[in-house]
Amino acid sequence: MRLLLIEDDTQIAASLARALRHAGDAVDVCGNARDAEEALRAIDYALVILDLGLPDQDGGTLLRSLRTRDDHTPVLVLTARDELDERVRLLDLGADDYLVKPFELAELQARIRAITRRAIARSGGDIGAGRLRLDLAQRCAYCGDAPLDLSPRELKLLELLLLRRDRVVSKTQIQEQLCDWGQELTDGAVELYIHRLRRKLDASGVEVRTVRGFGYLLQLAAEAS
Ligand code: CA
Repeated sequence: MRLLLIEDDTQIAASLARALRHAGDAVDVCGNARDAEEALRAIDYALVILDLGLPDQDGGTLLRSLRTRDDHTPVLVLTARDELDERVRLLDLGADDYLVKPFELAELQARIRAITRRAIARSGGDIGAGRLRLDLAQRCAYCGDAPLDLSPRELKLLELLLLRRDRVVSKTQIQEQLCDWGQELTDGAVELYIHRLRRKLDASGVEVRTVRGFGYLLQLAAEAS
């Protein structure tokens, strides 16, 4: 998943981004509302983590403007104020969830998983195909009952392909979702991840097809020809 972290405290931002990247997510970091607005208009994020206290604008205002223009990207708010009024205000503004600072990293990650699951459930997306099943809460994939040994990046790639099952995912989309601004994933690297994933999906009844000149397509092996 590609996440946007909007947080002006550079230390908090760096440690959160590091932890989320370690879990296999691509994370862009913005330190103010103006940059965040620009990023949000350019990129389709799976989730936004929004600190309320930003230097140029209240995070709540940013959230409101996002929802006003019908952008339903899931938003998890970080707030310093643990008051009932504040929590109600945030949910009314369109936050999907909130965390009161200071918080434990494990809780942030659990809430991210919960929001992502809800978003997937809302979109009606199926995260299984053939004998393959992806457990988003546990962050692992199974072929039948046997867990598949996938690296965090391979898991992300599989998630991306599964969520867009039967639709072509371009190399650029893969690069965008697996990488953030600080990194670069070459075409060759994408091909390598696809190659490894295919080998591991061998007995799953699912195939990753190359659509030459366009990208990749995940479908049931019986449908692939
Ligand atoms: Ca702040």
